[in-house]
Amino acid sequence: VGYYLSRIDAHRHLNAFVEVYAEEARARALEVDARLREGTAGKLAGLVVGLKDVLCHAGHGVQAGSHMLDNYRSPFTATAVQRILDEDAIVIGRQNCDEFAMGSSNESSYFGPVRNAADSTRVPGGSSGGSAAAVQANLCHAALGSDTGGSVRQPAAFCGTVGLKPSYGRVSRWGLIAYASSFDCIGPITRSVEDAALLLEIMAGPDEHDSTVSTREVPAYSRELHWEQPARVGYLREAVESEAVEPAIRERTLAVLNQLREQGHTVEPIEMPLLRYFLPTYYILTTAEASSNLSRFDGVRYGYRSPEASNLEGLYKKSRTEGFGDEVRRRILLGTFVLSANYYDAYYTKAQRVRNLVRKESEGLFDHHDFLISPVTPTTAFRLGEKMDDPLQMYLADIFTVQANVVGAPAISIPNGTDEAGLPIGVQVMARPFAEQDLLAFSNYLT
Ligand code: GLN
Repeated sequence: VGYYLSRIDAHRHLNAFVEVYAEEARARALEVDARLREGTAGKLAGLVVGLKDVLCHAGHGVQAGSHMLDNYRSPFTATAVQRILDEDAIVIGRQNCDEFAMGSSNESSYFGPVRNAADSTRVPGGSSGGSAAAVQANLCHAALGSDTGGSVRQPAAFCGTVGLKPSYGRVSRWGLIAYASSFDCIGPITRSVEDAALLLEIMAGPDEHDSTVSTREVPAYSRELHWEQPARVGYLREAVESEAVEPAIRERTLAVLNQLREQGHTVEPIEMPLLRYFLPTYYILTTAEASSNLSRFDGVRYGYRSPEASNLEGLYKKSRTEGFGDEVRRRILLGTFVLSANYYDAYYTKAQRVRNLVRKESEGLFDHHDFLISPVTPTTAFRLGEKMDDPLQMYLADIFTVQANVVGAPAISIPNGTDEAGLPIGVQVMARPFAEQDLLAFSNYLT
Protein backbone atom coordinates (compact mmCIF):
# COMPACT_ATOMS: atom_id res chain seq x y z
CA VAL A 1 0.00 0.00 0.00
CA GLY A 2 2.83 2.35 0.89
CA TYR A 3 4.50 1.62 -2.43
CA TYR A 4 1.36 2.39 -4.42
CA LEU A 5 0.56 5.51 -2.39
CA SER A 6 3.96 6.95 -3.18
CA ARG A 7 3.58 6.11 -6.86
CA ILE A 8 0.13 7.70 -6.93
CA ASP A 9 1.67 10.81 -5.44
CA ALA A 10 4.42 10.86 -8.06
CA HIS A 11 1.85 10.48 -10.87
CA ARG A 12 -0.70 13.13 -9.90
CA HIS A 13 -0.40 14.65 -13.39
CA LEU A 14 -2.14 11.60 -14.86
CA ASN A 15 -5.31 12.56 -12.94
CA ALA A 16 -6.19 8.87 -12.66
CA PHE A 17 -7.71 9.07 -9.18
CA VAL A 18 -10.62 11.19 -8.03
CA GLU A 19 -9.97 10.26 -4.42
CA VAL A 20 -7.28 8.22 -2.66
CA TYR A 21 -8.06 6.43 0.61
CA ALA A 22 -4.54 6.59 2.06
CA GLU A 23 -5.24 6.13 5.77
CA GLU A 24 -8.02 3.65 5.29
CA ALA A 25 -5.93 1.52 2.90
CA ARG A 26 -2.98 1.53 5.31
CA ALA A 27 -5.20 0.44 8.21
CA ARG A 28 -6.77 -2.28 6.13
CA ALA A 29 -3.37 -3.53 5.00
CA LEU A 30 -2.46 -4.08 8.65
CA GLU A 31 -5.68 -6.01 9.25
CA VAL A 32 -5.14 -8.16 6.20
CA ASP A 33 -1.55 -8.74 7.27
CA ALA A 34 -2.77 -9.98 10.65
CA ARG A 35 -5.14 -12.39 8.92
CA LEU A 36 -2.32 -13.61 6.71
CA ARG A 37 -0.26 -14.42 9.77
CA GLU A 38 -3.19 -16.27 11.33
CA GLY A 39 -3.73 -18.18 8.10
CA THR A 40 -7.29 -16.86 7.75
CA ALA A 41 -6.76 -14.39 4.90
CA GLY A 42 -8.88 -14.44 1.73
CA LYS A 43 -7.82 -15.23 -1.84
CA LEU A 44 -7.06 -11.60 -2.68
CA ALA A 45 -5.10 -10.78 0.46
CA GLY A 46 -2.83 -7.87 -0.34
CA LEU A 47 -4.26 -7.11 -3.77
CA VAL A 48 -4.45 -3.33 -4.08
CA VAL A 49 -7.42 -2.35 -6.21
CA GLY A 50 -8.87 0.87 -7.61
CA LEU A 51 -12.57 1.33 -8.32
CA LYS A 52 -13.95 3.23 -11.29
CA ASP A 53 -16.08 6.09 -9.99
CA VAL A 54 -19.31 4.29 -10.93
CA LEU A 55 -19.08 1.53 -8.29
CA CYS A 56 -20.84 2.05 -4.99
CA HIS A 57 -18.78 1.52 -1.87
CA ALA A 58 -20.57 2.10 1.43
CA GLY A 59 -19.58 5.30 3.21
CA HIS A 60 -17.51 6.49 0.24
CA GLY A 61 -18.18 9.11 -2.37
CA VAL A 62 -19.23 7.96 -5.83
CA GLN A 63 -20.25 10.34 -8.57
CA ALA A 64 -19.76 8.82 -12.01
CA GLY A 65 -17.35 11.59 -12.95
CA SER A 66 -20.25 14.04 -12.74
CA HIS A 67 -21.03 17.34 -11.09
CA MET A 68 -24.55 15.93 -10.74
CA LEU A 69 -23.50 13.63 -7.90
CA ASP A 70 -21.48 16.17 -5.93
CA ASN A 71 -21.10 15.15 -2.30
CA TYR A 72 -23.05 11.94 -2.81
CA ARG A 73 -21.95 9.10 -0.56
CA SER A 74 -23.18 5.60 -1.18
CA PRO A 75 -25.08 3.92 1.65
CA PHE A 76 -24.28 0.45 0.29
CA THR A 77 -21.58 -1.54 -1.50
CA ALA A 78 -21.83 -3.03 -4.99
CA THR A 79 -21.98 -6.83 -4.94
CA ALA A 80 -18.84 -7.17 -7.07
CA VAL A 81 -16.95 -4.83 -4.75
CA GLN A 82 -18.23 -6.60 -1.64
CA ARG A 83 -17.04 -9.94 -3.01
CA ILE A 84 -13.48 -8.74 -3.55
CA LEU A 85 -13.48 -7.05 -0.12
CA ASP A 86 -14.62 -10.34 1.41
CA GLU A 87 -11.50 -11.91 -0.10
CA ASP A 88 -9.31 -9.23 1.49
CA ALA A 89 -8.61 -6.98 -1.46
CA ILE A 90 -7.58 -3.48 -0.40
CA VAL A 91 -9.35 -0.58 -2.11
CA ILE A 92 -6.92 2.30 -2.56
CA GLY A 93 -9.23 4.84 -4.15
CA ARG A 94 -11.81 5.70 -6.75
CA GLN A 95 -10.78 6.39 -10.27
CA ASN A 96 -11.61 9.05 -12.81
CA CYS A 97 -13.88 8.16 -15.74
CA ASP A 98 -16.03 9.71 -18.44
CA GLU A 99 -19.20 11.25 -17.04
CA PHE A 100 -21.73 8.45 -16.43
CA ALA A 101 -19.37 6.14 -18.37
CA MET A 102 -20.23 7.88 -21.64
CA GLY A 103 -17.16 8.34 -23.76
CA SER A 104 -14.04 6.82 -25.24
CA SER A 105 -11.37 9.25 -24.10
CA ASN A 106 -12.02 10.17 -20.46
CA GLU A 107 -12.39 13.78 -21.55
CA SER A 108 -16.02 14.09 -20.48
CA SER A 109 -15.23 13.78 -16.77
CA TYR A 110 -16.18 16.64 -14.47
CA PHE A 111 -12.77 16.05 -12.85
CA GLY A 112 -10.90 16.76 -16.07
CA PRO A 113 -9.16 14.41 -18.48
CA VAL A 114 -6.87 11.53 -17.55
CA ARG A 115 -3.53 11.27 -19.35
CA ASN A 116 -2.00 8.21 -20.95
CA ALA A 117 1.12 7.14 -19.05
CA ALA A 118 2.87 6.17 -22.33
CA ASP A 119 2.50 9.74 -23.65
CA SER A 120 0.86 12.36 -21.48
CA THR A 121 -0.34 14.40 -24.49
CA ARG A 122 -2.65 11.49 -25.33
CA VAL A 123 -5.87 10.11 -23.91
CA PRO A 124 -5.97 6.85 -21.94
CA GLY A 125 -9.22 5.87 -23.67
CA GLY A 126 -12.51 5.61 -21.87
CA SER A 127 -14.71 5.47 -20.21
CA SER A 128 -12.65 3.56 -17.59
CA GLY A 129 -9.63 5.77 -18.40
CA GLY A 130 -8.48 6.43 -14.84
CA SER A 131 -8.57 2.72 -14.06
CA ALA A 132 -6.56 1.74 -17.15
CA ALA A 133 -3.98 4.52 -16.70
CA ALA A 134 -3.59 3.56 -13.02
CA VAL A 135 -2.86 -0.08 -13.86
CA GLN A 136 -0.58 1.02 -16.73
CA ALA A 137 1.44 3.35 -14.47
CA ASN A 138 1.51 0.75 -11.70
CA LEU A 139 -0.52 2.82 -9.24
CA CYS A 140 -2.47 -0.29 -8.14
CA HIS A 141 -2.38 -4.01 -8.94
CA ALA A 142 -5.76 -4.06 -10.62
CA ALA A 143 -8.92 -2.04 -11.11
CA LEU A 144 -12.61 -2.67 -11.59
CA GLY A 145 -14.19 -0.83 -14.49
CA SER A 146 -17.46 -1.08 -16.39
CA ASP A 147 -18.02 -1.91 -20.03
CA THR A 148 -21.24 -0.96 -21.85
CA GLY A 149 -19.74 -0.70 -25.33
CA GLY A 150 -16.01 -1.11 -24.79
CA SER A 151 -15.18 0.95 -21.73
CA VAL A 152 -12.97 -1.70 -20.15
CA ARG A 153 -11.37 -3.07 -23.34
CA GLN A 154 -10.69 0.15 -25.24
CA PRO A 155 -8.78 1.96 -22.44
CA ALA A 156 -7.01 -1.33 -21.67
CA ALA A 157 -5.81 -1.38 -25.30
CA PHE A 158 -4.74 2.28 -25.25
CA CYS A 159 -2.81 1.69 -22.02
CA GLY A 160 -1.26 -1.73 -22.74
CA THR A 161 -3.13 -3.62 -20.03
CA VAL A 162 -5.55 -6.55 -19.98
CA GLY A 163 -9.26 -5.66 -19.90
CA LEU A 164 -12.03 -8.23 -19.59
CA LYS A 165 -15.71 -7.70 -20.32
CA PRO A 166 -17.57 -10.75 -19.01
CA SER A 167 -20.78 -12.13 -20.52
CA TYR A 168 -23.85 -10.06 -19.75
CA GLY A 169 -25.25 -11.40 -16.48
CA ARG A 170 -22.05 -13.10 -15.33
CA VAL A 171 -21.35 -10.44 -12.69
CA SER A 172 -24.07 -8.69 -10.70
CA ARG A 173 -24.68 -5.07 -11.67
CA TRP A 174 -26.05 -4.21 -8.25
CA GLY A 175 -24.28 -1.09 -7.08
CA LEU A 176 -23.02 -0.12 -10.54
CA ILE A 177 -24.37 3.31 -11.49
CA ALA A 178 -26.46 2.49 -14.55
CA TYR A 179 -25.74 3.76 -18.04
CA ALA A 180 -27.57 1.23 -20.26
CA SER A 181 -28.86 -1.62 -18.13
CA SER A 182 -29.15 -4.27 -20.83
CA PHE A 183 -25.50 -3.71 -21.86
CA ASP A 184 -23.63 -2.78 -18.65
CA CYS A 185 -21.00 -5.20 -17.31
CA ILE A 186 -18.44 -4.84 -14.54
CA GLY A 187 -15.01 -6.10 -15.58
CA PRO A 188 -11.41 -6.16 -14.33
CA ILE A 189 -8.44 -4.25 -15.73
CA THR A 190 -5.22 -6.03 -14.85
CA ARG A 191 -1.62 -6.67 -15.84
CA SER A 192 -2.19 -10.36 -16.61
CA VAL A 193 -4.90 -12.72 -17.84
CA GLU A 194 -4.42 -14.71 -14.66
CA ASP A 195 -5.36 -11.76 -12.45
CA ALA A 196 -8.42 -11.08 -14.59
CA ALA A 197 -9.48 -14.73 -14.23
CA LEU A 198 -9.05 -14.64 -10.46
CA LEU A 199 -11.04 -11.44 -10.06
CA LEU A 200 -13.79 -12.74 -12.33
CA GLU A 201 -14.22 -15.99 -10.42
CA ILE A 202 -14.60 -14.02 -7.20
CA MET A 203 -17.03 -11.41 -8.57
CA ALA A 204 -19.20 -13.71 -10.70
CA GLY A 205 -22.32 -15.62 -9.75
CA PRO A 206 -25.90 -15.21 -8.61
CA ASP A 207 -27.04 -12.29 -6.53
CA GLU A 208 -30.51 -11.73 -5.15
CA HIS A 209 -30.19 -8.01 -5.89
CA ASP A 210 -29.85 -8.40 -9.67
CA SER A 211 -32.49 -10.46 -11.45
CA THR A 212 -30.52 -10.47 -14.72
CA VAL A 213 -27.50 -12.19 -13.25
CA SER A 214 -27.02 -15.81 -14.32
CA THR A 215 -27.32 -18.74 -11.91
CA ARG A 216 -24.90 -20.81 -13.98
CA GLU A 217 -22.11 -22.33 -12.00
CA VAL A 218 -18.93 -20.22 -11.79
CA PRO A 219 -15.87 -22.25 -12.81
CA ALA A 220 -12.56 -21.73 -11.03
CA TYR A 221 -11.33 -19.73 -14.03
CA SER A 222 -7.89 -19.02 -12.63
CA ARG A 223 -7.08 -22.66 -12.05
CA GLU A 224 -7.69 -23.81 -15.61
CA LEU A 225 -5.73 -21.43 -17.74
CA HIS A 226 -4.20 -24.01 -20.07
CA TRP A 227 -5.20 -24.19 -23.70
CA GLU A 228 -4.01 -27.27 -25.50
CA GLN A 229 -6.43 -28.26 -28.25
CA PRO A 230 -6.53 -26.77 -31.76
CA ALA A 231 -8.77 -23.70 -31.83
CA ARG A 232 -11.10 -22.55 -34.58
CA VAL A 233 -10.51 -18.85 -34.96
CA GLY A 234 -12.48 -16.45 -37.11
CA TYR A 235 -11.47 -12.96 -38.05
CA LEU A 236 -13.10 -10.14 -39.92
CA ARG A 237 -11.34 -9.54 -43.23
CA GLU A 238 -12.20 -5.82 -43.16
CA ALA A 239 -10.48 -5.45 -39.82
CA VAL A 240 -7.10 -6.51 -41.19
CA GLU A 241 -7.49 -4.96 -44.63
CA SER A 242 -9.39 -1.74 -44.07
CA GLU A 243 -7.60 1.56 -44.58
CA ALA A 244 -9.60 2.87 -41.64
CA VAL A 245 -7.50 0.72 -39.31
CA GLU A 246 -3.99 2.03 -38.64
CA PRO A 247 -1.31 -0.01 -40.46
CA ALA A 248 0.55 -0.92 -37.25
CA ILE A 249 -2.66 -2.32 -35.76
CA ARG A 250 -3.43 -4.31 -38.91
CA GLU A 251 0.10 -5.73 -38.93
CA ARG A 252 0.03 -6.69 -35.27
CA THR A 253 -3.38 -8.34 -35.65
CA LEU A 254 -2.18 -10.27 -38.71
CA ALA A 255 0.90 -11.34 -36.78
CA VAL A 256 -1.31 -12.94 -34.13
CA LEU A 257 -3.40 -14.70 -36.78
CA ASN A 258 -0.32 -15.96 -38.63
CA GLN A 259 1.25 -17.23 -35.47
CA LEU A 260 -1.91 -19.15 -34.62
CA ARG A 261 -1.94 -20.65 -38.11
CA GLU A 262 1.65 -21.76 -37.74
CA GLN A 263 0.81 -23.36 -34.43
CA GLY A 264 -1.79 -25.50 -36.17
CA HIS A 265 -5.01 -23.68 -35.34
CA THR A 266 -7.69 -23.08 -37.93
CA VAL A 267 -7.82 -19.41 -38.84
CA GLU A 268 -10.51 -18.27 -41.26
CA PRO A 269 -11.96 -15.00 -42.47
CA ILE A 270 -15.63 -14.53 -41.63
CA GLU A 271 -18.38 -12.37 -43.04
CA MET A 272 -20.44 -10.10 -40.84
CA PRO A 273 -22.99 -8.54 -43.17
CA LEU A 274 -24.55 -6.68 -40.25
CA LEU A 275 -21.30 -4.98 -39.22
CA ARG A 276 -22.43 -1.56 -40.40
CA TYR A 277 -25.48 -1.75 -38.12
CA PHE A 278 -23.55 -2.45 -34.93
CA LEU A 279 -22.87 1.17 -34.02
CA PRO A 280 -26.33 2.58 -34.86
CA THR A 281 -27.95 -0.26 -32.90
CA TYR A 282 -25.68 0.34 -29.95
CA TYR A 283 -26.09 4.12 -29.87
CA ILE A 284 -29.88 4.02 -30.33
CA LEU A 285 -30.48 1.46 -27.62
CA THR A 286 -27.95 2.74 -25.09
CA THR A 287 -29.07 6.36 -25.36
CA ALA A 288 -32.69 5.21 -24.95
CA GLU A 289 -31.80 3.27 -21.82
CA ALA A 290 -29.62 6.10 -20.54
CA SER A 291 -32.37 8.69 -20.92
CA SER A 292 -34.57 6.52 -18.74
CA ASN A 293 -31.88 5.56 -16.20
CA LEU A 294 -30.69 9.13 -15.75
CA SER A 295 -34.17 10.50 -15.12
CA ARG A 296 -33.64 9.74 -11.43
CA PHE A 297 -31.15 12.61 -11.19
CA ASP A 298 -33.71 15.32 -10.63
CA GLY A 299 -32.00 17.61 -8.16
CA VAL A 300 -34.20 16.29 -5.37
CA ARG A 301 -33.02 12.82 -4.48
CA TYR A 302 -29.27 12.85 -5.12
CA GLY A 303 -26.31 15.11 -5.28
CA TYR A 304 -26.42 18.46 -7.01
CA ARG A 305 -29.36 20.86 -6.64
CA SER A 306 -29.38 24.18 -8.43
CA PRO A 307 -29.54 27.08 -6.00
CA GLU A 308 -31.25 29.22 -8.67
CA ALA A 309 -34.66 27.60 -9.00
CA SER A 310 -37.88 29.12 -7.70
CA ASN A 311 -40.37 26.34 -8.53
CA LEU A 312 -40.32 22.55 -8.93
CA GLU A 313 -40.23 22.44 -12.73
CA GLY A 314 -37.40 24.95 -12.68
CA LEU A 315 -35.56 22.93 -10.06
CA TYR A 316 -35.55 19.86 -12.32
CA LYS A 317 -34.51 21.82 -15.37
CA LYS A 318 -31.82 23.92 -13.77
CA SER A 319 -30.34 21.08 -11.73
CA ARG A 320 -30.15 18.80 -14.76
CA THR A 321 -28.83 21.50 -17.08
CA GLU A 322 -26.15 22.59 -14.64
CA GLY A 323 -25.41 19.14 -13.23
CA PHE A 324 -24.86 17.19 -16.46
CA GLY A 325 -22.08 17.87 -18.95
CA ASP A 326 -22.46 18.19 -22.74
CA GLU A 327 -22.03 14.53 -23.68
CA VAL A 328 -24.52 13.30 -21.09
CA ARG A 329 -27.06 15.91 -22.15
CA ARG A 330 -26.55 14.99 -25.80
CA ARG A 331 -27.27 11.33 -25.03
CA ILE A 332 -30.32 12.09 -22.89
CA LEU A 333 -31.70 14.15 -25.78
CA LEU A 334 -30.93 11.43 -28.35
CA GLY A 335 -32.47 8.77 -26.13
CA THR A 336 -35.56 10.82 -25.42
CA PHE A 337 -35.96 11.42 -29.13
CA VAL A 338 -35.75 7.75 -30.13
CA LEU A 339 -38.26 6.86 -27.42
CA SER A 340 -40.71 9.62 -28.31
CA ALA A 341 -44.17 8.62 -29.53
CA ASN A 342 -43.65 9.61 -33.16
CA TYR A 343 -40.29 7.94 -33.59
CA TYR A 344 -40.42 4.96 -31.24
CA ASP A 345 -41.09 2.37 -33.93
CA ALA A 346 -38.79 3.91 -36.49
CA TYR A 347 -35.78 3.88 -34.13
CA TYR A 348 -36.19 2.04 -30.86
CA THR A 349 -38.30 -0.89 -32.05
CA LYS A 350 -36.23 -1.26 -35.18
CA ALA A 351 -32.97 -1.21 -33.22
CA GLN A 352 -34.34 -3.95 -30.92
CA ARG A 353 -35.07 -6.07 -34.00
CA VAL A 354 -31.62 -5.46 -35.40
CA ARG A 355 -30.15 -6.40 -32.02
CA ASN A 356 -31.87 -9.78 -32.38
CA LEU A 357 -30.50 -10.22 -35.88
CA VAL A 358 -26.99 -9.38 -34.68
CA ARG A 359 -27.42 -11.95 -31.90
CA LYS A 360 -28.46 -14.60 -34.43
CA GLU A 361 -25.61 -13.73 -36.76
CA SER A 362 -23.13 -13.95 -33.90
CA GLU A 363 -24.54 -17.27 -32.67
CA GLY A 364 -24.13 -18.58 -36.20
CA LEU A 365 -20.48 -17.52 -36.20
CA PHE A 366 -19.86 -19.27 -32.92
CA ASP A 367 -21.33 -22.50 -34.33
CA HIS A 368 -18.22 -22.70 -36.49
CA HIS A 369 -15.62 -20.83 -34.47
CA ASP A 370 -14.43 -20.88 -30.88
CA PHE A 371 -13.13 -17.33 -30.99
CA LEU A 372 -13.34 -14.16 -33.02
CA ILE A 373 -10.18 -12.10 -33.17
CA SER A 374 -10.06 -8.44 -34.12
CA PRO A 375 -8.27 -5.25 -33.26
CA VAL A 376 -9.78 -3.55 -30.18
CA THR A 377 -9.67 -0.13 -31.80
CA PRO A 378 -8.94 1.26 -35.28
CA THR A 379 -6.26 3.62 -33.88
CA THR A 380 -3.83 3.87 -31.01
CA ALA A 381 -4.38 6.46 -28.27
CA PHE A 382 -5.25 9.79 -29.87
CA ARG A 383 -4.27 13.25 -28.66
CA LEU A 384 -6.21 15.03 -25.96
CA GLY A 385 -8.80 17.28 -27.61
CA GLU A 386 -8.42 15.63 -31.03
CA LYS A 387 -11.96 14.21 -31.22
CA MET A 388 -13.77 16.38 -28.72
CA ASP A 389 -15.50 18.54 -31.32
CA ASP A 390 -16.63 15.60 -33.38
CA PRO A 391 -18.79 13.18 -31.37
CA LEU A 392 -19.46 11.04 -34.44
CA GLN A 393 -15.73 10.38 -34.93
CA MET A 394 -15.57 9.43 -31.28
CA TYR A 395 -18.51 7.00 -31.66
CA LEU A 396 -17.04 5.40 -34.81
CA ALA A 397 -13.97 4.34 -32.85
CA ASP A 398 -16.16 1.84 -30.94
CA ILE A 399 -16.74 -0.29 -34.04
CA PHE A 400 -14.93 -3.43 -32.82
CA THR A 401 -16.01 -3.38 -29.20
CA VAL A 402 -19.79 -2.86 -29.26
CA GLN A 403 -20.69 -6.24 -30.81
CA ALA A 404 -19.87 -8.11 -27.60
CA ASN A 405 -22.23 -5.84 -25.64
CA VAL A 406 -24.99 -5.98 -28.24
CA VAL A 407 -24.98 -9.80 -28.05
CA GLY A 408 -23.92 -10.21 -24.39
CA ALA A 409 -20.75 -12.15 -25.22
CA PRO A 410 -17.49 -12.10 -23.24
CA ALA A 411 -14.52 -10.34 -24.82
CA ILE A 412 -11.04 -9.46 -23.69
CA SER A 413 -8.42 -6.98 -24.76
CA ILE A 414 -4.86 -8.20 -24.40
CA PRO A 415 -1.63 -6.30 -25.07
CA ASN A 416 -0.28 -6.87 -28.58
CA GLY A 417 2.89 -4.80 -28.76
CA THR A 418 3.23 -1.16 -29.69
CA ASP A 419 3.47 1.02 -32.78
CA GLU A 420 6.74 2.79 -33.76
CA ALA A 421 5.96 5.62 -31.39
CA GLY A 422 5.72 3.19 -28.50
CA LEU A 423 1.95 3.51 -28.15
CA PRO A 424 0.26 0.33 -26.94
CA ILE A 425 -1.82 -1.85 -29.28
CA GLY A 426 -4.41 -4.38 -28.11
CA VAL A 427 -5.96 -7.43 -29.69
CA GLN A 428 -9.50 -8.49 -28.89
CA VAL A 429 -10.69 -12.06 -28.46
CA MET A 430 -14.40 -12.73 -28.22
CA ALA A 431 -16.17 -15.98 -27.38
CA ARG A 432 -19.78 -17.19 -27.18
CA PRO A 433 -21.77 -16.13 -24.12
CA PHE A 434 -20.58 -17.80 -20.92
CA ALA A 435 -17.48 -19.29 -22.54
CA GLU A 436 -15.20 -17.29 -20.22
CA GLN A 437 -13.26 -20.38 -19.24
CA ASP A 438 -12.18 -21.02 -22.84
CA LEU A 439 -11.70 -17.32 -23.52
CA LEU A 440 -9.36 -16.86 -20.57
CA ALA A 441 -7.40 -20.06 -21.19
CA PHE A 442 -6.91 -19.17 -24.85
CA SER A 443 -5.96 -15.58 -24.02
CA ASN A 444 -3.44 -16.82 -21.51
CA TYR A 445 -2.00 -19.03 -24.22
CA LEU A 446 -1.78 -16.01 -26.54
CA THR A 447 0.16 -13.86 -24.06
N1 GLN B 1 -17.30 4.45 -25.80
C1 GLN B 1 -18.58 3.86 -25.64
C2 GLN B 1 -19.61 4.94 -25.40
O1 GLN B 1 -19.24 6.05 -25.40
C3 GLN B 1 -18.56 2.85 -24.53
C4 GLN B 1 -18.88 3.37 -23.18
C5 GLN B 1 -18.93 2.28 -22.14
O2 GLN B 1 -18.61 1.13 -22.41
N2 GLN B 1 -19.35 2.66 -20.95
O3 GLN B 1 -20.76 4.66 -25.22
